[in-house]
Amino acid sequence: MMSEQHYDVVVIGAGPAGYVAAIRAAQLGLKTACVDAFVGKDGKPALGGTCLNVGCIPSKALLDSSKQFHNLTHNFAVHGISAANPSIDVGAMVGRKDKIVKQFTGGITSLFKANKVTPIAGFATLKPGRVVSIKGHDGSVSEVSGTNVIIATGSVPIELPFAKFDNKFIVDNAGALDFDATPGRLGVIGAGVIGLELGSVWKRLGSEVTILEALPDFLAAADADIAKAAAREFKKQGLDIRLGAKLGKAEIRNNEVHLTYSDAKGEQNLVVDRLLVAVGRRAATNGLLAEGTGVQLDERGRVVVDDHCHTGADGVWAVGDCVRGPMLAHKGSEEGIAVAELIAGRAGHVNLDTVPWVIYTEPELAWVGKTEEQLKAEGVPYRTGSFPFAAIGRAVAMNETAGMVKVIAHAETDRLLGVHMVGACVSEMIHEAVVAMEFKGSAEDLARICHAHPTLSEAVHEAALAVDKRAIHKAN
Ligand code: NAD
Repeated sequence: MMSEQHYDVVVIGAGPAGYVAAIRAAQLGLKTACVDAFVGKDGKPALGGTCLNVGCIPSKALLDSSKQFHNLTHNFAVHGISAANPSIDVGAMVGRKDKIVKQFTGGITSLFKANKVTPIAGFATLKPGRVVSIKGHDGSVSEVSGTNVIIATGSVPIELPFAKFDNKFIVDNAGALDFDATPGRLGVIGAGVIGLELGSVWKRLGSEVTILEALPDFLAAADADIAKAAAREFKKQGLDIRLGAKLGKAEIRNNEVHLTYSDAKGEQNLVVDRLLVAVGRRAATNGLLAEGTGVQLDERGRVVVDDHCHTGADGVWAVGDCVRGPMLAHKGSEEGIAVAELIAGRAGHVNLDTVPWVIYTEPELAWVGKTEEQLKAEGVPYRTGSFPFAAIGRAVAMNETAGMVKVIAHAETDRLLGVHMVGACVSEMIHEAVVAMEFKGSAEDLARICHAHPTLSEAVHEAALAVDKRAIHKAN
């Protein structure tokens, strides 16, 4: 019989849901271990999951590098700044990204040490009785058990059967962070968050980027006015987004990827040098559950949980991308904290209605709450107010005039139902709306708050005033 170590909490997965849950549990005095299978580019175990290793952090590093280059080559002239023969060293850019990843994954190791969380490297399988079996990277098998187990295994890219990843020509998000040179022609399947962000990176560095999106509408999850304004800007940047395009097959021939797809005009062909497939992600639950744990998976392979992230099996919880709700790092982290608090006998809850969304394109998109289309479908009476950045002094001074803020409030109570933004720095500005909605504020509340001048946030103030047709700096 294998000896097993017992913990108050065993967390499976060290992504933003799992590592945060582990740290919070340890802070609350619980003896905590965190098992993770991820191996970094250097072949060593790396904490932080998709977010830190191949997601949020590295993509933002490349978005920032490519934005600097794009500004230098396209936007500095208007400020009277010129530079001779600007060039980009892709190796140096990717190297900088790798250094940032290492800094942050190493940071989690330090935080675990400081909080006395025990990291365990390997692939975990949950067995009945909250026993967790771990297959180490050297093939060894060990076991730990927990009074509580928190499943936080995250998600993996969905693979299309007719465009399988070979990690050279046909890549997922991780592959598209590590091209050794700017692809001449980059094809992207899926005009979602990853497709738009990574498509933007390589477009700014000189790729000819074509994005094939199966749905007829662009960014159907966003408010239609915001999606329309964003589409206009992406088109100006030269991103070729083809809607209603259904991929038939992708074949690698002569170091090129030959695509066949169909759209309203019939069958089409496209040849690219590299293909990024970003058609969504699925819960990473393969091999997670042994027989008899009592934990259920739904039809999409997600761990079934209640409103408090409990699986229904005694002492087993699940958080983050592997359960229902948006696949967003910050949503997973909040669930991780909530569950740790519940385990420690405190209150913990995540309001999925006020989770902010951000897309880090240029301009950025950010929103919280319901879109106008959702409210229409639900028959909720509403009023809207919007305000363009083109009329905001700070935005004009920054030469960042694209986009707008749109506020949606209940027609009778004025309660804020949704706030939608497209423009520079809206990833930071959205939190004013999140706070207001968490506090159950009204458009009038936002309109009565003194906003500093000159700032981009004045667009939120004016959009809130516009709900009542009293914006100052535009005709109502
Ligand atoms: P997504 O769901 O955002 O977009 C996938 C897109 O692919 C959709 O528009 C879908 O209609 C389209 N699609 C699906 N099948 C297709 C097909 N066969 N052909 C053409 N188009 C097809 O998914 P993603 O971009 O892969 O991102 C995965 C997850 O990661 C998302 O849940 C996203 O929220 C999350 N993520 C978030 C951020 C962020 O918060 N900024 C960044 C990256 C990823």
